Amino acid sequence: IIEITNLHKIYKDSEVNVHAVNDVSLTFKEGEFAAIVGPSGSGKSTLLNILGGLDVPTNGKILIDKTDLSQLKSSDLIKFRMQNIGFVFQAYNLIPVLTAKENVEFIMQLQNRSKQEREKRTMDLLKEVGLEGRENSRPAKLSGGQQQRVAVARALASKPKFVLADEPTANLDTKSTENLLDIMEELNQKENITFIFSTHDQRVVKKAHRVITLEDGKIISDVRKSI
Ligand code: ATP
Ligand code: MG
Repeated sequence: IIEITNLHKIYKDSEVNVHAVNDVSLTFKEGEFAAIVGPSGSGKSTLLNILGGLDVPTNGKILIDKTDLSQLKSSDLIKFRMQNIGFVFQAYNLIPVLTAKENVEFIMQLQNRSKQEREKRTMDLLKEVGLEGRENSRPAKLSGGQQQRVAVARALASKPKFVLADEPTANLDTKSTENLLDIMEELNQKENITFIFSTHDQRVVKKAHRVITLEDGKIISDVRKSI
C-alpha cells in the first residue's frame, strides 16, 4: 500500500516558484491499475518521481508498505527502490550499447542473485513481453514499441510490487500501444503488480481501473471504475 499525505512540491527558481504538486493525498492499494491524467504541466511526472523516491517533496509524507521514504538515508532509499519499485520512464532510457537481454539483466546484477537465476528471469521476462528471439538486439535495432517493452521487462526484473510508468505509450503506434497495455494488464492480473502510470492517451485511460485527474498540481477528480 502506498499512502501519500498532504504532498507538496515547490520548485524554487530565481524568477518563479512553481507549485508543481499542491496538497495531494492519495492511497494506492495492492493490485491497482491506475492512470494519472491532466494537462501538460499539471504535475504528473513530478508526482511519479516523488512516489518513486527519485525526487523529494517540499512537504508531506509518503509511506510505501509502512516505510516512510523521507526517513531513509540515501543508500537505503536506493536499495528500497530497487527492491520494491520498477520504473518505465522516458528519462530512463535503455542503455544503447547493451542488448535487450543485457539491459534487463543489468538491474539484477546489483542484487545478490546467481548468474543462472538472472539469465532465466531475463529470458522469461523478454518472452513475456513478446521479445523472444530479439534478446541479442541492441535498442537501435528495435522499434519504439519493442524498446518500451524491453523497458517494461527491465522494470519487472527485480520483482517489484509497484511499477511506475511515465507516459509509457508516448510515441507508440496503435498496435504497439495495445500490445504494451495487454502486457501490463496481464502482469497486473497474474502477478498482482500495482501499476501507476501517467498518460495523455485516451486508449490507455480507458483501460485503467482508476483515473486520477490533476490540474495545477491538485487532484480534481479520482474515479474508480467498477470492473
Ligand atoms: P507533461 O504532461 O507535459 O509531461 P506533467 O504533468 O508531467 O506535464 P510536470 O513535469 O510534473 O508536469 O511539471 C509540473 C510543473 O513543474 C510545470 O510547471 C513544470 O514547468 C514544473 N517543473 C517540473 N520540473 C521542474 C524542475 N526540475 N524545475 C523547475 N520546475 C519544474
Ligand atoms: Mg510529464
